[in-house]
Amino acid sequence: MDRAIRTLLKDVKGGHRMSEKEATGLFSVNDRQVWEIAAAADEMRKERAGDAVTYVRNQNINVTNLCVNACGFCGYSKKPGDEGIYFHNKAEIQKKAAQAHGRGVSEICTVSGLHPDFTAQSYIDVYRWICEAAPGIHLHASNPMEVAYAAKRSNLSTVGVLDMMKEAGLNSMCGTAAEILVDSVRDTICPQKIPTKEWVRIITEAHGLGIPSTATIMYGHCETNEDRVQHLAILRNIQDETGGFTEFVPLSFIHMNTPLFRQGKARAGATGREDLLMVAIARLFLDNFKNIQVSWVKEGIKMAQLGLIAGGNDLGGTMFEESISKGAGATNTDYLDPAEMQRVAEDVGRPLRRRTTLYELV
Ligand code: SF4
Repeated sequence: MDRAIRTLLKDVKGGHRMSEKEATGLFSVNDRQVWEIAAAADEMRKERAGDAVTYVRNQNINVTNLCVNACGFCGYSKKPGDEGIYFHNKAEIQKKAAQAHGRGVSEICTVSGLHPDFTAQSYIDVYRWICEAAPGIHLHASNPMEVAYAAKRSNLSTVGVLDMMKEAGLNSMCGTAAEILVDSVRDTICPQKIPTKEWVRIITEAHGLGIPSTATIMYGHCETNEDRVQHLAILRNIQDETGGFTEFVPLSFIHMNTPLFRQGKARAGATGREDLLMVAIARLFLDNFKNIQVSWVKEGIKMAQLGLIAGGNDLGGTMFEESISKGAGATNTDYLDPAEMQRVAEDVGRPLRRRTTLYELV
């Protein structure tokens, strides 16, 4: 192995905080040293998160696929006049929430486009309906883009909107809409989304109000290794400041049905090497995150399993309803039986444990 990499991995295991330059170098490794990086990350995972592979019983509720934005990586959103538009009303949302409750789901996550008629009140209504139909459920909803949109539509501050959402039942927030927190990349893949600075401000505000969130990255399109590391560094800095991130979730770009790929502006998703390195380097670089999730929805269960021996300690949710990745062309995204999760976890010598959204074991 390259001596510099061997020394770096040894230093990081000994407590050295990896620099951005060092992390960028690791992302370019493309030979058997990938396994060494993964092995170091696996050791770190054991030390920081233990052996259990965790998962949560959750269900997505898709509110509407109508969206005023047109992100280039999105195969889910529709414009007025398109075929296949839906907008679930109170009765439908409550039916789905009650069904989830009946299935013993502990978390409901809302997923939605930015409906042209939505205001802050629209989000509040949906959260109240869900909490009414599924009492005691953990509501994981909103992301900084939705908060900014609700604030703009209702002429409120983003803190004001977050307060209202919390009051309406929001327990934790989705760290999505982060994509890559580098404005030059955002200008290509999601020009209408809030800029990096605003994403950081809103997620920090949420943490300040006692609303924890996940942290995500969407990679494998047109970003460079430097962009990835800049993104990770932003997350690490926020975590130093707030401690409000529950986990880091790398989301591998699903390219098939997306405008970005069709227009030749993105490559055909990350490779297996890149998926593995993203988990491993995140584990080594994000020294203030306990939980690194591997997404079976984005990577498939076989790749996700390899992520578990490259720094990952969590398999995410069972799902029951998933539309975002399916819209972009992914298959088998609707539900993963905990029995299958157990099979892949035990196959790498680890026990499977059910958790809550906030990582308490149940
Ligand atoms: S990613 Fe979200 S904001 Fe962007 S077009 Fe799709 S639904 Fe709309």
